[in-house]
Amino acid sequence: MDISKLDRKLIWHPFTQYKTDEPPTVIIRGEGSYVYDSKNNKLLDLISAWSVNIHGHCNPIIARAIYEQSLKLEHIIFLGFTHETAVKLCKNLSTILPPELTKFFFTDNGSTAVECALKMSIQYWKNKGQNKSMFIGLKGGYHGATYGSMSVGITSGFHDAFSKLCFTNKFIPFPETWLGDENVEEKEEKSLAMLKEHLRSCGSEIAALIVEPIVQGSQGMRMCRPSFITKIVELVRQYNILVICDEVLTGFGRTGTYFAFEQTGIVPDILCLAKSLTGGFLPMALTVATLDIYEAFLGDSFEQAFSNGHSYGANPLGCAAAIASFELLIKPETKEAIRIMSRTQQEEANKLMKCEKVERVRVHGTIVAFDIKKPVCILSFKEKCKKQGIILRLVGRSVYVMGPYTVTAEELRNAYDIIATDRKSVV
Ligand SMILES: *Cc1c(COP(=O)(O)O)cnc(C)c1O
Repeated sequence: MDISKLDRKLIWHPFTQYKTDEPPTVIIRGEGSYVYDSKNNKLLDLISAWSVNIHGHCNPIIARAIYEQSLKLEHIIFLGFTHETAVKLCKNLSTILPPELTKFFFTDNGSTAVECALKMSIQYWKNKGQNKSMFIGLKGGYHGATYGSMSVGITSGFHDAFSKLCFTNKFIPFPETWLGDENVEEKEEKSLAMLKEHLRSCGSEIAALIVEPIVQGSQGMRMCRPSFITKIVELVRQYNILVICDEVLTGFGRTGTYFAFEQTGIVPDILCLAKSLTGGFLPMALTVATLDIYEAFLGDSFEQAFSNGHSYGANPLGCAAAIASFELLIKPETKEAIRIMSRTQQEEANKLMKCEKVERVRVHGTIVAFDIKKPVCILSFKEKCKKQGIILRLVGRSVYVMGPYTVTAEELRNAYDIIATDRKSVV
């Protein structure tokens, strides 16, 4: 069977322009930090299978947990029923979350986790007798592909075709920064000034602030200073506005701590988790809320109840994968791997600073990104990377390096030679 041919005939891939894009690479299997294509070429996965994989491909512990769970209970409606795996997962996650975040609502991907957070915020205020239906977001933020999540991510550039049907929100510039950036204070001041203006003009209509803390993933890993997030949260809270942290990408160790918000000193009212929640095995997401949010939904009729849910909510297989992934994450070996990866990334970022072909080198925790100075052809870039045995993604002119925590320091150093620091490098 010619997979490529049949794929072309049958399948419509995401975010793909068929007229100009290359056919997709057929991947046969994965193991650890590598995947193998149909010619058995070994490729280092430096995009973590679109940011979902943290413990490597086909991790046998997670695989076994799913298999064993599938023989016990594969799924049950989560309305009026519950199961041990869901409860155990939330109990586990509680141990690495602040005590304020206590109520876990299950959905099945990042977009629905955000959608759920938006609906929670709006109904929270409605139940309290207040009509607040706008959000404040950061320009360039990406929060998912459904209408609510597109509405708070409309400035990302991914949703222009649907902008007419998206609801109106307020946005402030994202003060992106990088190594050696001298204008960060200025950018932050500008952004804070705009926030203050929004708050003065319509603060009472804003239900919540939504942020990707520290790293804007889909924008090519744009980064801001943690203290900026602290400042905007403190400001909006003076106006009785809820705070949603979208940690769909930054969660589970990516920025060096379990969650990025830990580095900002703030605790969100609502937290969105997805992507690597299951270690990259199954689609599952959580929207975690404070007791205050939850209690606003208590009442004598269904009218106050949170009217939201999905058929595959709290799927036991997803929960089993997430429990196994959590247990791997909190192991001292994994913490050490994250520390080593973060240190290596920092060192390599410093080296990239000396590379003439790139600019705006940024690093936070396990994530490095930079921009290529000259215009680049995505096709030839991807092709060159693949030939050298690495998988990378180009977003505009930004390249990011974000592998699973199984990638070693040596593998990373080799990858940077291939990418940019060697004479024969791809950029
Ligand atoms: C990927 C992403 C989403 C959307 O998640 P999906 O699972 O693709 O729907 C939302 N927010 C952030 C920050 C993301 O990176």
